[in-house]
Amino acid sequence: MAYVGGASEPPPGCIFCHALERTDDRASLVLHRGARSFLILNAFPYAPGHLMAVLNRHVGTIGDATVDELADAMGLVQRGVQALAAEYKAQGFNIGINQGRVAGAGIEGHLHVHVVPRWNGDTNFMPLIGETRVLPESLEATWDRLRSAFHG
Ligand SMILES: [Zn+2]
Repeated sequence: MAYVGGASEPPPGCIFCHALERTDDRASLVLHRGARSFLILNAFPYAPGHLMAVLNRHVGTIGDATVDELADAMGLVQRGVQALAAEYKAQGFNIGINQGRVAGAGIEGHLHVHVVPRWNGDTNFMPLIGETRVLPESLEATWDRLRSAFHG
């Protein structure tokens, strides 16, 4: 990921924990807050609408998460997919977790599920090492479009 953030950063330096603590959802790109996880736009998206379901708790692996936390995050993945299909007419999705630095995790201390919308004819998805792309709209515009799906 293009994210900054190194291995085993303590929670005070964790971009996800920081976003969860903030109250300005638009500035922090938080789309929705759930019981055990939240949805946030990726600040360095592979495609417009690239979002992530992030556990509220700062744990780095599937094994350290509870089943309830994983279920909650997948529920938000479902809602994110529905919102992207409705608002962006996404035709497919890459959904996944990069656990551990060797697997390409940009923020390996805090588990998150990527949801990347896909369309016929779009450019190839680079799941491990991506470059920031020029996007057709700003992150704020994306947030505005998707936020209404959760807080319409
Ligand atoms: Zn964290």
